[in-house]
Amino acid sequence: MKEKAIVLFSGGLDSALTSIILKDAGLDVIALRFVTPFGCIRKNEAKDVTGIIKEKFKIKVEEIILNEEFIEILKNPKYGYGKNMNPCIDCKILMLKKARKVMDEKKAVVVATGEVLGQRPMSQHKIALNNIENESGLKGYLLRPLSAKMFEQTIPEKAGIIDREKMYGIFGRGRKQQYELAKKYGLDVIPQPASGCLLTDSYFSNRIKDLFKYKPDFNERDVSFLRIGRHFRIGNEVKLILGRNSSENAVLEKMYSSSDVMLSPGDDIPGPTGLVYGNNISVNDISSSMSVFAKYSDKKIDSVKIDVKSSNKIDCLSAVPIDESAISRMKI
Ligand code: SF4
Repeated sequence: MKEKAIVLFSGGLDSALTSIILKDAGLDVIALRFVTPFGCIRKNEAKDVTGIIKEKFKIKVEEIILNEEFIEILKNPKYGYGKNMNPCIDCKILMLKKARKVMDEKKAVVVATGEVLGQRPMSQHKIALNNIENESGLKGYLLRPLSAKMFEQTIPEKAGIIDREKMYGIFGRGRKQQYELAKKYGLDVIPQPASGCLLTDSYFSNRIKDLFKYKPDFNERDVSFLRIGRHFRIGNEVKLILGRNSSENAVLEKMYSSSDVMLSPGDDIPGPTGLVYGNNISVNDISSSMSVFAKYSDKKIDSVKIDVKSSNKIDCLSAVPIDESAISRMKI
């Protein structure tokens, strides 16, 4: 019976290599893929790598969904944010705590990550990595195979369960050694290094800051809106979201609830779908939203007809497009 190892698998190169290195070292690897509300933009690419890991390297991949717990650390991260709204240290600790549980359930000998010492300024310097190890309850059982030789031996290495000679001593931001390892182990598709987490995106982070400011008690629905469309701040409690293409329009239509107001083109001219949502939506809020909607309509005339759906009742109204300077102040 092979000993088991649990790997935090993001779908990026480093975690893919980590899984393969441990498999090559004779362990039965279980890769945990954490799904957060702000997860990977490159969904398909991650899927490809996940497919290769599963099929070519026969590594099991299991998904763990993080919703409320993740939102809680995002609101108040003990170790703060990175360059944007990414609470990487707290996030890693949360994931590792979950991995620790899986390790115990599956009677695995170690938890491993694809972290490389010195690769990222906030979360991958030695003090941060030590904090992560201590707070996750994995002291002595957290292995970073790509940089293992830069760290003290883990307990399973000391016990000879994991062959330290099969681990590496990579340091820093360069990718050359990882590319060489990918070649060595036959990983033909090279995923990008970053996780694709939207929280590292400055544009997306602005939307989160706006949410923190205007709706500090935000919930999963508020978060799910952040991924879609163009966003406009209409009032302290009200936002407008406009779909940028037919699939976003369809998603907004699906997400409509009776407390929202939905805007759609009132004649045959194509235009976006708009969702006005928030608390206490006033007539003025709807009117401002309609002017923004009219600006994005494909109908380049003075007045645009709009179907306004509110409390499941539809009225056809007209609006004049808002001017450019006003719109830029509302954009989030
Ligand atoms: S980039 Fe995102 S998913 Fe990755 S550790 Fe940071 S917050 Fe977590």
